[in-house]
Amino acid sequence: MERVRIILKSGKDQSLRRYHPWIFSGAIKKIYGNPVEGDIVNVFDNKETFLATGHYQPGSIAVRILSFKEVNPDIDFFRGRIEDALKYRRSLGLIDNHSINVFRLVHAEGDNLPGLIADYYNGVIVIQMHSVGMYRIRKEIAQIFTNLLATRVKAVYDKSEATIPYMSGVTGVNEFLFGESGPVVVSENGYKFKIDWSRGQKTGFFIDQRENRKLLGNFSSGKNILNLFGYTGGFSVYAMKDALLVHTVDSSATAIELADENINLNFGNDPRHKSFQVDAFEFLNDIEGKYDLIILDPPAFAKHNNALENALQGYKRLNMKAIEKIKPGGIIFTFSCSQVVTRENFRKSVFAAAANTGRKVKIIHQLSQPPDHPVNIYHPESEYLKGLVLYVE
Ligand code: SAH
Repeated sequence: MERVRIILKSGKDQSLRRYHPWIFSGAIKKIYGNPVEGDIVNVFDNKETFLATGHYQPGSIAVRILSFKEVNPDIDFFRGRIEDALKYRRSLGLIDNHSINVFRLVHAEGDNLPGLIADYYNGVIVIQMHSVGMYRIRKEIAQIFTNLLATRVKAVYDKSEATIPYMSGVTGVNEFLFGESGPVVVSENGYKFKIDWSRGQKTGFFIDQRENRKLLGNFSSGKNILNLFGYTGGFSVYAMKDALLVHTVDSSATAIELADENINLNFGNDPRHKSFQVDAFEFLNDIEGKYDLIILDPPAFAKHNNALENALQGYKRLNMKAIEKIKPGGIIFTFSCSQVVTRENFRKSVFAAAANTGRKVKIIHQLSQPPDHPVNIYHPESEYLKGLVLYVE
């Protein structure tokens, strides 16, 4: 069958010529053929010069580019891309490192595989498809992983039910595509975490905070620490090493349960840790002078550009409360994981928050995502995790 051809409006080829891997629907002049979601399409400029090949979807992002060359993206093509992703992680020392058996195997656009996320949890790979094009080949992708990682994989679980574009009409199911496994325990920098992909958010764990959790560990000695939006207690576990007390706050009962389990796994029933299932904004109202270190790692406040202004206000409000109420000489680890919020915008929100309190604030670290979540230089949106460590006099 002839491949569908998509012609862009004049001038709308510019971002593609700079290798940006998304085409927005507004850039399209004409479509030759009747593509259905997930089809492979070829993209041309206004003069019908070939530009790229990608997966079609009838949303605001209309094409996710797979290649800027004229290739046939068959299963061998995807195997090649996954081999590249593995080779890169091997060079980072992640694949054969036994003190870390939890890392991201494939980071979508960051690994030139738009629509595919894959996380490795001590033998279990959890994949999430964000496009129908990827979802259609999920079984083949699972097989590629099992072939390439052989004895290091005991199961592949597909958790795409909630991540496939809702307009597609394709209903994803969460299921094992290879083997089977209950929750597993992983180790990260000497700490243990129980990973329950079926109950947890995303693929089960926020691997992206690994380096930032490690840094936090260096600040925890002798402190009273508050971990807001704690989820599975990642920061809390690292903080427990030598803190005086650690309080974990999350509005989700499941999250609190998972956090308690992880503290228990590492420190037993340690009275220095307490968890609270409440709203983080409410909790902040009553903490005047109680904490030396506060972690703010909220969920993405803005998922789309039109929610940007509200999101920035949200970051400002949250940071203002923390800066206002932390003990003198306190430390704040503050993050934004919204893709549409740039590093610059996030920093401005925190600046506005600080200015409102009038306290003296120093930026002592600027944080990002670890190298197993690489940023595609042509796709600035793949740099989604931004953090600041503040010292409040
Ligand atoms: N810091 C975590 C990841 C945080 S994910 C880690 O390193 O693993 C965001 C968490 O915020 C989720 O667990 C979610 O349940 C929680 N959450 C969302 N809104 C909240 C609110 N208003 N108050 C408290 N927790 C909230």
